[in-house]
Amino acid sequence: MVPVTVDVDVACVALRSAGLVALPTETVYGLAADATDADTIARVFEVKGRPTDHPLIVHLGDAAWLPDWVLDIPDAAARLADACWPGPLTLVLRRSDRVLNAVTGGRHTVAVRVPAHPLASEVLLRFGGPLVAPSANRFGHVSPTTPAHVLADLGARLDPERDVVLDGGACAVGMESTIVDCTGPIPQVLRPGAISPEKVAAIVGAVAPASGPRRAPGMLVSHYSPRCAIELVDYLGDADRRAAELTQTGRRALVLHDPDPVAYARTLYDRLRAADDAGIEVVVAVLPPAEGLGHAIRDRLSRASGRG
Ligand code: AMP
Ligand code: MG
Repeated sequence: MVPVTVDVDVACVALRSAGLVALPTETVYGLAADATDADTIARVFEVKGRPTDHPLIVHLGDAAWLPDWVLDIPDAAARLADACWPGPLTLVLRRSDRVLNAVTGGRHTVAVRVPAHPLASEVLLRFGGPLVAPSANRFGHVSPTTPAHVLADLGARLDPERDVVLDGGACAVGMESTIVDCTGPIPQVLRPGAISPEKVAAIVGAVAPASGPRRAPGMLVSHYSPRCAIELVDYLGDADRRAAELTQTGRRALVLHDPDPVAYARTLYDRLRAADDAGIEVVVAVLPPAEGLGHAIRDRLSRASGRG
């Protein structure tokens, strides 16, 4: 089994020796690798079972690194970076020549972010270069928010000689970063996250709706999926009624809800994984209102239900 450590130096040694490091960020655990090493990046795709045309997010230790990796920084991107970095916001920008095709799937754009988690930040600054870090789970599965989740998905697939898991406890946000495409005339939210679409709009003025061909590649209808079926309802009363109905017909059902969107987001993936482990067949999930963090929770629940 792959070693688990709390030592940032061990993680940096692994990264410098072409190893993979599952590390905590404020959003979810990422499977980090040197973003300038195509062979190691190939292993990231292989270990995750991720199609190679799904581009990876490049993580930077500091916003000052950005000019090396992008062609230009439009005004909207500069404002978003100023307001939200370090933090759970990814910007899509035109890539510089230094960005590998393996990272972008051959695209002319690159997704970049500066994470806020102290351990991720320390690893990046000590390593001294950019890291790719897609979520440390098997492709299509629920993202990991604890080291135990990482081990359950990838423990047997990582190389104990080269790779390590850096233990930073449970992730504070619990949901993937907000992605904003800044390559067009009007910034577009490609994926909602902890930085709400309302906040993005307040920072840059108008935002374009996340639809049409500019939707993020790799954002599949069915993604972030547990094994159990997921049914979506708008109200807790409906969820309780539906779960009782299911139970009466002999199915193992569970209601998923939290009145506090921050707690809902932080615990969602852990609760979905726990439902699978407990043999739950149907999760009846209450959709939070479509505002603030609610957009992200609704997005992930819809994809988990296969109806994104
Ligand atoms: P994650 O699975 O959290 O690592 O996020 C990766 C996602 O970032 C991809 O599936 C895309 O949706 C998005 N992404 C990465 N690079 C790009 C890019 N160049 N253009 C648009 N979206 C991107
Ligand atoms: Mg992922």
